[in-house]
Amino acid sequence: MTWLGQTWTGLADLVLPGTCAGCGAGGPGALCANCTRLLRGLRAHPVRPTPAPPGLPGCVALGGYEGALREVLLAYKERGRHTLARTLGDLLASAVAAGVRLAGPPAGTPLLLVPVPDTAAAARDRYGDHMLRLARRAAVRLNAAGWPAGLATPLSARPRADSAHLDRAGRADAAAGAFAPRTRELARMAEVAARGAVVVALDDILTTGATLAAVAGRLRASGVPVPLAVVLAATRRRAGSRTPSG
Ligand SMILES: [Zn+2]
Repeated sequence: MTWLGQTWTGLADLVLPGTCAGCGAGGPGALCANCTRLLRGLRAHPVRPTPAPPGLPGCVALGGYEGALREVLLAYKERGRHTLARTLGDLLASAVAAGVRLAGPPAGTPLLLVPVPDTAAAARDRYGDHMLRLARRAAVRLNAAGWPAGLATPLSARPRADSAHLDRAGRADAAAGAFAPRTRELARMAEVAARGAVVVALDDILTTGATLAAVAGRLRASGVPVPLAVVLAATRRRAGSRTPSG
């Protein structure tokens, strides 16, 4: 069912006149001019869930999880519109650049980008790890701008049940056991970080912060500090997220 649905969606994207992933308007391309302008106008800003889980790094979000940004993320992640990876990866790169500047290190400090991994099942359903694809694009974009950025995948995601129905404490428990370390890559990362590279954890949406806290905790336990996490969107109700995006 999923396979058929995904295939059909992809096919529809190819052969039917385009609809904007942000607002549904008809027209050429995956995004209309208005939504493109809206997304490009977003400005990364610090966000913090309330309460923040222990060990959560400083977080920066490009925007709130609403409007065109929410629709585009859903279209990319859940409806198989992979052509949006380019736009979203570019937005992620700009959020990383802004986040690092806000966090203190000067522009140009070497970066190690660590996307939160999909479980194998999710990656299968989505025809590939959705954050890995965005992080790869973001790294290319940063490197093209003269900012050295590498991609690291030191964790794999263990199979897990959908956590959407869990409360905050349940999510934190589930997140803590969700990732398995790749020891050799972690050891290499620790060396690179010790020589001044800044590790940045990446995710698409910040809700409770449990996932990013778990990722940072896993890395920290292996001697890899994670001073910063960058997300594309943060859900509202979070302290700081009401900061005007302009
Ligand atoms: Zn639109």
